[in-house]
Amino acid sequence: MGIKLNCLACGHAMELGEAYEDYEGEVRCWGCQTVLQVALAEGKLRSMRRIADGPSGERPRLGEAQPR
Ligand SMILES: [Zn+2]
Repeated sequence: MGIKLNCLACGHAMELGEAYEDYEGEVRCWGCQTVLQVALAEGKLRSMRRIADGPSGERPRLGEAQPR
């Protein structure tokens, strides 16, 4: 059983593994790269807030690498 979260920025559904049942820290959205600060206890979401956006000055690109 995982823990389901929705990204605050893009609404992307994320599922965290059991290792996150008691976790406090950062999670990066797989969709938009926004960093979320989450606090989980006993498999329940206690708090979630957005602490950073994706790569600055750049729109997130899905499935596309950006060689320099
Ligand atoms: Zn997102």
